This record gives sequence, structure tokens and C-alpha cells, in this order.
Amino acid sequence: MKTIEKKLTGKVVVITGASSGIGEAIAITLARHGAKVVLGSRRKEKLEMLTDQIKKSGGEAVYSVTDVKNKEDLAQLVQTAVATYDRLDVIINNAGIAQLNRIDDLDIEGWENMIDVNLKGVLYGMATVIPIFKQQKSGHIINIISTSGLKIAPMQGVYAGTKNAVRTITEAFRQESNGDIRITGISPGFVKTELADHIKNDQMKSAIQENMEKMAISPIAVANAVVYAMEQPQDVEIGDIVIRPSVQN
Ligand code: NDP
Repeated sequence: MKTIEKKLTGKVVVITGASSGIGEAIAITLARHGAKVVLGSRRKEKLEMLTDQIKKSGGEAVYSVTDVKNKEDLAQLVQTAVATYDRLDVIINNAGIAQLNRIDDLDIEGWENMIDVNLKGVLYGMATVIPIFKQQKSGHIINIISTSGLKIAPMQGVYAGTKNAVRTITEAFRQESNGDIRITGISPGFVKTELADHIKNDQMKSAIQENMEKMAISPIAVANAVVYAMEQPQDVEIGDIVIRPSVQN
């Protein structure tokens, strides 16, 4: 492993959606900074490979196959963290999907999936860790949101709606917290990942893929923002980070 300043030594971090894209980059980056990462997503082989890769580079990682639509899977993921490393410092609610369509296309299945993964999945993640963080009197929730919703665009209405719901919940939690539990929302613009590959609307899929080719930044940029939010002392809370390609309008 390349020698770098280890800013996060010993921190135990659960990451959802760790099998690709932003989640994978966060896992690798945090492990390089000395964090113990606990990886969750649905694709077991991907998680297995990433765990091996991190361990071979001298880092610490475990995984638990997780579908964030199931509360029980999130409970198992968090339990894996606590059972393996005896505590939990941070959860990164990153798992997300985008089904982009006009609203009058009535892609009800796509809406339900986005609500279940992007919104309810984040709430389940928060619900699973809050009792542990309350007991410890410390903990940090990091929600990966999106610039969708900061700038409203056609075809992204329901996706942006789920992301803006998370933005609102994140801010409400921040106001309610007595400071023991910190919360950060990170909103990326175009980032080069697999997100667009799963879009069912072909026209939208190629438009987003084209934009990704043209301007998307590396997921490492988002991982570096996570490091920044995590390395702050207990009395400093980073609320919102927006991170876009310089050329994105
Ligand atoms: P990827 O498609 O590369 O990664 C998405 C991750 O979410 C995968 O690891 C996938 O793993 C996981 N996932 C999907 N559904 C579920 C589920 N039901 N349960 C558990 N895990 C799930 O996309 P990104 O890395 O881009 O996306 C990460 C986050 O970043 C998302 O919340 C996305 O909305 C957000 N974002 C992305 C932007 C971009 O331009 N790429 C811009 C703004 C925000 P698996 O299939 O193994 O379950």
C-alpha cells in the first residue's frame, strides 16, 4: 500500500452500495486512510473481490450482502460491523438507483424502486445506527444525495424528489441532534460510475452516458469529500458538500 497520511485510523465505517462507483471508491479511499470498512450491496462477488483487494493492500474490510430495501439486511450489515470491530463510527448511505423518465411516462415500478432504495433505504440505514450512536454518544451519518434537485431538470423529477427528500431529512436530523451524532449530506454532480448503465429509458440512458463521457469526474473526488467530512473533530460538523465537474452548469 502506498504510504499516505492515515487520517482515519481505527474508524469503523459501514458503506452501502459499496460494490461499484462512488461506494467502491469511498471504501478503497477510507481503507487507505486507516478506516475499517464494512461493505454492503447485493452483488456478493463484487463485495468479495473488493474486500480481498483492500486486505491485500494492508487495509481492513468485511462485507455482508445487503439489499437496502430490507431493514433486516441493514441490521445484519451493522451487526457485522459491531461484531467484527466492536463499535461503529460512521454509516455512509450511498446505495442508489436512477430511473429517469418524464413523469407522464408513468414508470410506477421505477418510482417505487427509487423510493425504496434512495429514500427508504437511507431511512432504514439511519434507523439501524441511531440507537447505537445514541448509546455511544457519538456517530456520524453521511448521506450521498445529488445535485439533481438542487437544479431541477425534466426527466429527473422522481429521482430528484427522492434525493431532495433525503436532503430535507438530513437537515432536519442535524437540527434535532444535540451534537453527539453528526450528519453530512454530500451532493455529487456527474461522476463516472455504472449509475447510467441501469437506466431503462434508452434515450435517457445514452444522454446521461454521453454526459458522463464528456464531463464526469472520478468517484475518488467524492471519496475525498467523505474523508474531509470524517476527519473533523467532534465539535465540527460538515453539513453540506456539493461537488461537481468544473464544467457542469
Ligand atoms: P453505481 O451504479 O456505480 O453504484 C450504485 C451502488 O448501489 C452499487 O454498489 C449497487 O450495488 C448499489 N445498490 C443498488 N441498489 C441497491 C440495493 N437495493 N441494495 C443495496 N445496494 C444497492 O452508481 P453510483 O456510484 O453513481 O451511485 C452511488 C450514489 O451516488 C447513488 O445514491 C447515486 O444516486 C449517487 N449519485 C451519483 C451520481 C453520478 O453521476 N454517478 C451523481 C449524483 C449522485 P449492487 O448492484 O451490488 O446492489
